[in-house]
Amino acid sequence: MLIGVPKEIYPGEARVAIIPSGIQALLDKGFSVVVQEGAGDGAHFGDEEYRACGASIAPSAESLYEQADIILKVRNPQEEELPLLKENSTLICLMDAWFNLPMVEKLAAQKVRSFALEFIPRTTRAQSMDVLSSMGAISGYRSVLTGAMALPQYFPMLMTAAGTIHPAKVFIIGAGVAGLMAISTARRLGAVVEAYDTRAEVREQVESLGAKFVEFDLETEEGNSSGYASEKSEEFYRKQREQMTTKISQADLVITTAAIPGKPSPRLITKDMLHYMKKGSVIVDLAAERGGNVEGTVANDKVYLDGVTIIGYTDHPGRVPVHASQLLTKNISTFLLNMADEGELSVNMEDDIVAATLVTEDGEVKHEGLSAQLA
Ligand code: NAD
Repeated sequence: MLIGVPKEIYPGEARVAIIPSGIQALLDKGFSVVVQEGAGDGAHFGDEEYRACGASIAPSAESLYEQADIILKVRNPQEEELPLLKENSTLICLMDAWFNLPMVEKLAAQKVRSFALEFIPRTTRAQSMDVLSSMGAISGYRSVLTGAMALPQYFPMLMTAAGTIHPAKVFIIGAGVAGLMAISTARRLGAVVEAYDTRAEVREQVESLGAKFVEFDLETEEGNSSGYASEKSEEFYRKQREQMTTKISQADLVITTAAIPGKPSPRLITKDMLHYMKKGSVIVDLAAERGGNVEGTVANDKVYLDGVTIIGYTDHPGRVPVHASQLLTKNISTFLLNMADEGELSVNMEDDIVAATLVTEDGEVKHEGLSAQLA
């Protein structure tokens, strides 16, 4: 079968699903690979490198989609890409399916077999396919660098002849993959770091990275079988905001990462709370794509409210395109090769990874949760 790697067309997207060094593993399993001209440019991988690694180059998206049996992409297909997907082809990408239901319906109507990488279970066997962890870690890392650059002060403690500089205080809300990476990055830059999560089990991980785990007088949880937090009542969020006000008023940089899969981001900081923060302090809201953890966050922008800079960039992984694409290559090809048999796809619904990620096939929406939403 022929695997196609298109150039991403989402505005500003610099990542590519497969980098040249990942081609050989696909050829070894009996597949051929075609890459769209310029697909790797944003991540600094040229067409010549792809050719040298055994891929052919398609001059346009049209010719790529027409030839390929399997499309490997980073982002979900955009409006103009959907008609290019041919019947009975297979699509594997980060689909953002809960928030793109009309696209899911179109994929089914076009008889495309599609897999959503965000549904890969958080299990030991699936760890090397876990795109969300790879991208979450980059977001955590970049959130600290972005926040540090926006902060009008030093990060580390310094003792100079001109006086002592106190270290920046960083408060991280949500200690999942992104939050833990943010803790270690902020610590490496010399900040004093505190973190909070509704899942009490992360205390040990937070402390092992040298940060203080903050406790509030609120119920905690263990998270579901995938390790995810559950949605809370408005009363819970109200109490959480009340208790968090003191913490954020002491911080120079606040990083919010709180997410509930398939739901809008919980609102953790209101505009009223900003008033208690120090002038010149910074918030990086990693939940901006889903409405944000902070009232006033503008997705893909930086705003100033009540003396506080709020950064709502949603493309942190794309700002590290080389390593993001390298990690995606490993994740996506491991996912694909788990279903490969001598250059063909063998879709086994007994496999929990396959069953969890299959979205559409044979003209139907196969994912139970999504088809219930669409009913
Ligand atoms: P996520 O992006 O869904 O959420 C980020 C964090 O926000 C989570 O830690 C969540 O508990 C927290 N959160 C939600 N609501 C909150 C609130 N109101 N206040 C404070 N914090 C709140 O999660 P993620 O980072 O993708 O990962 C979640 C968990 O999945 C991990 O911590 C881990 O336990 C598990 N995981 C397991 C594997 C594996 O076993 N292979 C791999 C990756 C992750």
